Amino acid sequence: MHGRKGINVLVYEKDPEGLRFLRGFFRSRKTMRPHFIGSADELTDKIETAGADALIVGIPNGNDGLHAGAVRVPTVALITGNIPCCLKEVIRHDIEYYLLRPFHEDDLELKLKTAINRKSWFERLYAEKRDLEAIVELTYLISSTLDPREVLYFVVKKLSEMIEVSRCSVISIGFGEKRYAHVVSSFEDPGVSDIRLDLRKYPEIKKALTSKRPIVIQDAMEDPVMKSVRAAIEPLGIRSIVVIPIIYRDEIIGTLFLRTSRARSAFSKREINLCNAIANVSANVLYNAFLFEKLENEKERLERLAITDYLTGVYNIRYFYHRLEEEFSRAERYGHPISCIMMDIDHFKNVNDIYGHRMGDMVLREFAQLVRRHVRRSDVFARYGGEEFIILLPQTPLDGAEKEAGRLRVFIREHRFKGIEERITSSMGISCWPAHDINTHDDLITLADNALFEAKSSGRDRVRTSAEHRKKLGV
Ligand code: GH3
Ligand code: MG
Ligand code: MG
Repeated sequence: MHGRKGINVLVYEKDPEGLRFLRGFFRSRKTMRPHFIGSADELTDKIETAGADALIVGIPNGNDGLHAGAVRVPTVALITGNIPCCLKEVIRHDIEYYLLRPFHEDDLELKLKTAINRKSWFERLYAEKRDLEAIVELTYLISSTLDPREVLYFVVKKLSEMIEVSRCSVISIGFGEKRYAHVVSSFEDPGVSDIRLDLRKYPEIKKALTSKRPIVIQDAMEDPVMKSVRAAIEPLGIRSIVVIPIIYRDEIIGTLFLRTSRARSAFSKREINLCNAIANVSANVLYNAFLFEKLENEKERLERLAITDYLTGVYNIRYFYHRLEEEFSRAERYGHPISCIMMDIDHFKNVNDIYGHRMGDMVLREFAQLVRRHVRRSDVFARYGGEEFIILLPQTPLDGAEKEAGRLRVFIREHRFKGIEERITSSMGISCWPAHDINTHDDLITLADNALFEAKSSGRDRVRTSAEHRKKLGV
C-alpha cells in the first residue's frame, strides 16, 4: 500500500467546514490519496476490503459508521461539534489521535503519519512475538522424547503455518557429501522418507553449502544463481527460495528449504530471521536423527562383522560354536539327530606354492562361497580355520549327512576355480549324534576331525564317517 502507490486515506466526513479543510489538505499532498466515503455502509465495506492505510472521520458526522472496536485502521478524528460530547465518542471508539478547531494541515499530517507508523510498529511487534512463541514451542518439542523425525516434521509444519510457502522441507546432508542431499521431512508429504536430491539440480542448496550462509533468491527467474536450472524450474512457477544451512559444530548437516510460488511476494526480512532461528534450534534434532540412524546401521554392521570370517565372508568359528551349543542341547532335549561335516581342502599348499598366497586367498573365498550356495538353509556353515571348514546339520541323521557330503564333494571337484588350472578336491569327515561315544558337542567335533583324518590318510577326495559310528553300526 505504501511506497510507489502512495498512502490511501479513507475520509468519512460530512461537515462542510471539515470537508473544505480536507480538500485543501490533500491538494497539496500528492503522496496521499483520499477516498471520500458517502455512507456508513460504504465505510464498513471499504474498511474491510479496500486495504486503507488510514482513516479520517468527522465527529459527530462520521460517527454513525463506526462500530466500537472495529477501527483497526490508523484513525484520526476531526472534531467539529460539541467538544465534551465528541471527545466521549473518540474515547468510546478507541481513537487515539484527534484535531480540534481551528484545524492545521501540519497537525493533521503529523498525526496521520504517527498513527500509521505506530500501527506498523505494533504489527511488527506482534509478528515478532508470534515468531518467538513458535521458536519457544519448537524448543520444547525438541527437548521432548519424540522421535527426531517427528520433531523435524513439526519444524516444517510450524514454518509452513508461519510463512506462506509452496514447499518447506528439512534436507539432510551427509558429512563431506557433495553430490546428494536427502529430504528427511517435508510439509507437503508427511510420509516422506529420504528422497534423494541431486545437488546439480539445486544450485541454491549447493551455494548454501559452500558459503555456509543463508541463500535468499527473491526471484528465481532473475537471480544468476539459478541460471543453470532456470529452464527446468520455469514451469514449476517458483518465485522465491530460501535455503538456510543447519550447522552443528561448524559442520553443515542440512538445510531448511523453502519455496514460494510466483503469486506471492518475496520473502521478508522477518521471515528469513524466523527461518534462521528455527534452523538454529533444529540443528540438534537433525544431528540426533542422523546419529540415531547411523548408530543403528553401525550396530547392524558390527553384529554382522562379529560373526563373519573376514576372508571368506562365511560364518566364523565363534559363531559356529555358539550355534553348536544351542543346536546340540536342542537335539538332546528333543531326541533329534544332529550331524557334523568337517572338510579340508586337499593339497592346498600347492595352490599357494604355484600361484602365490593372494591367489590362494581368492580360491579359499570362492571355495567357501561355492559350498555356502550348496548347503541347506538350516545348516550352519563356517570357516574352521586355514583351509578347513565345518558344517553343522541340525535334525539330520547320518545317512542324510553322508548324502550331503557326497553331493558337496562332487560339486567341488567339478567346479572350475577362477585363475587356476588345477581342480580342487576336498576331504570330509562326518560325525553324528546319537552315538555311544558322543556325550558333548565337543565330542561331535572331535569325531568329525578323526573321520577327516581317515579320509586324508586313505587317499583324499573322499568322505569318511567316524569309526565310532561304523563300530556301532557293525560295519
Ligand atoms: P592336505 O590338507 O591335503 O594334507 O594338504 P594341505 O596342503 O592342504 O595341508 P597343510 O595343512 O599342509 O597346509 C595347509 C595350507 O593352507 C598351508 C597354508 O599356507 C594354507 N592356508 C591356510 N590358511 C590360508 C589362508 O588363509 N590363505 C592362504 N592363501 N592359504 C592358507
Ligand atoms: Mg588341506
Ligand atoms: Mg588343513
